[in-house]
Amino acid sequence: MRAFVVGNAALDETLSVEDFPSPGASIFGSNLSRDLGGKGINQAVAIARAGLDCVLVAAVGNDARGREIAERLAREPLDGQLETLAGITTDASMILMTLAGENAIITTREAADALTPDVACRCLQDATRGDLLVVQGNLREDTTTALLRTARRIGMQTAMNPSPLQSYFSALWPLTDMIFVNEGEAEALGGVEHLLDEGIETVVLTLGGAGAALITRAGRQDVPAVPCDVLDTTGAGDCFMATALASAGVRGVAMDARALQHAAHAAAHTVAHTGTVAAFPDAGTFARILRL
Ligand code: ATP
Repeated sequence: MRAFVVGNAALDETLSVEDFPSPGASIFGSNLSRDLGGKGINQAVAIARAGLDCVLVAAVGNDARGREIAERLAREPLDGQLETLAGITTDASMILMTLAGENAIITTREAADALTPDVACRCLQDATRGDLLVVQGNLREDTTTALLRTARRIGMQTAMNPSPLQSYFSALWPLTDMIFVNEGEAEALGGVEHLLDEGIETVVLTLGGAGAALITRAGRQDVPAVPCDVLDTTGAGDCFMATALASAGVRGVAMDARALQHAAHAAAHTVAHTGTVAAFPDAGTFARILRL
């Protein structure tokens, strides 16, 4: 099985501040760092490090940030298919971390928004029945819809992480096999029961430090989080989803509680380290986690 992740690619610029600035304020920051980011990149990198063959499709601009993303991605064990679009600025996220451990994130989406259905779906030409399509909420409605429809036609499995929330999502449920949501997203989308009623077979509900649940029409299985020192939760949800998908994919099984246990270990590693992709387990650590 191969995973095709189609989503956004960004560079994350993270800095620590004592507290969030109030309007008009000028404040000092520290610990400025830069990392690969964007939900598309996050999920693809974690899937690939966890050992599942992975293709990433994302748009960048013809600029320094786009080139840096390409250079950094070349160090990851995945097939990175970056579409370089003229006249477009590569996406970036500014992440403010406070001393209290809260974060505030501002993300641009010019490049993600410029990925058209034609260009995005071209990457699925190589996909075959049983492969996996993974999408998130960063692409525009026509592109996400076309990807899911194409995947259905091919006979691929489809997994969606509906974040950031967008108003067009409800039309996608009949095309979605698996959904990964946190509590707030589940509530905003009408609740888990509603998602199952709409035809989604598997709902994975993440509950932060309280763990996660695997919910189907057959019932609910709860999996606890792995206790750890919490440093930075950025990307924990992406790492969790990617690890669960890779664990089930590598073993050739449907989503199961063991996949969520593997995901809980990988996500705990992520929250115990600072950064986004830099905080994800490396391939060796993933190999140990997936043997648990
Ligand atoms: P984010 O948006 O921060 O990436 P999310 O809201 O999508 O995350 P969460 O439910 O917060 O997702 O977290 C995903 C998983 O990460 C949890 O199911 C859990 O396994 C792990 N996790 C999150 N917070 C903690 C914590 N405090 N301790 C241990 N594990 C955690």
